[in-house]
Amino acid sequence: MKALVYLGPKELELQDMEIPKDDVVIKVKESGICGTDLKTFLKGHPMFKPPVILGHECYGEVVGMTSDIPGITLGDLVAVAPYIECGKCEMCKRGVPELCKNKTYVETGCFAEYISMSREHACKALKKIPSDSSVFTLIEPLACVLNGFEKIGHCSNILVVGGGPMGALFAITAQDKGINVSVVETSDWRRKYLQSQKIELCDKCEEMKFDAIVMAVNKPELVNEYLENVENGGVLLLFSGYPSKSTLNVDPYSIHYREVGLFGCFGFAGKHFNEAKVLIERNPKNYERLITHQFSFAEAKKAFSLLNHAQAMKIILRS
Ligand SMILES: [Zn+2]
Ligand SMILES: [Zn+2]
Repeated sequence: MKALVYLGPKELELQDMEIPKDDVVIKVKESGICGTDLKTFLKGHPMFKPPVILGHECYGEVVGMTSDIPGITLGDLVAVAPYIECGKCEMCKRGVPELCKNKTYVETGCFAEYISMSREHACKALKKIPSDSSVFTLIEPLACVLNGFEKIGHCSNILVVGGGPMGALFAITAQDKGINVSVVETSDWRRKYLQSQKIELCDKCEEMKFDAIVMAVNKPELVNEYLENVENGGVLLLFSGYPSKSTLNVDPYSIHYREVGLFGCFGFAGKHFNEAKVLIERNPKNYERLITHQFSFAEAKKAFSLLNHAQAMKIILRS
């Protein structure tokens, strides 16, 4: 099969390799490029040591099964959760399954013609989808956004700081949920995209208050600035990742006297993946507008470069 192999920062190579042969084999139809893939491509990542196949947002067709999987038959189109919690460990019992210590995983990245996985993982991770459509690559990133909405709780207006692919997905999801949303973004390309999608830009929001503010840009120096714009009892959510050992300078006044919650979220749990699939099936048109480009594996470097220069939202790769 053809696979896009990451060989080190800014090094990708289309290679021929054996089709993986665990219990369940999926022929990948399309994959989305995630911020994590971009970060890894640019600077490397402690979790992805080269040579390795990246990618974890995909859907495809079930083409091999060594034994029966309840509800799944050969030829089914499925979305694939890249990891799923065990449901039994301390973290799962505590209600934070996204932090499960015993997750099962898809064996390799999905920037390849095929992926495979254990039967144990497949039983929980494969979700049947109704049609062969790019929008189903968005189930995984939407699941991460829904984890964020769970941390926020009830709210009627949100400010998203950072209008990249994930910030825009947060805004698109808020619109689907009937929540007022505006986005802070400086890049021209992204601002034009957001305007074209009727997503409000917030240019003078210093005096405004929001029930929730989502930091979808990893600039720690902005956190304290925006804390003041959170309504009493509201939430500031650290949605973007920050490097370990970085520090936040935060005035505790808002956290104590105004009871503003400062939360983070990372990844998703099975329930968010299921909920994301339901939202996308119910309103695919709302979500598919996040996909702005499609490329073949051979054009992957161009795709990563567009993302890096803030000239694209979600990019789809196919073999
Ligand atoms: Zn992702
Ligand atoms: Zn667990």
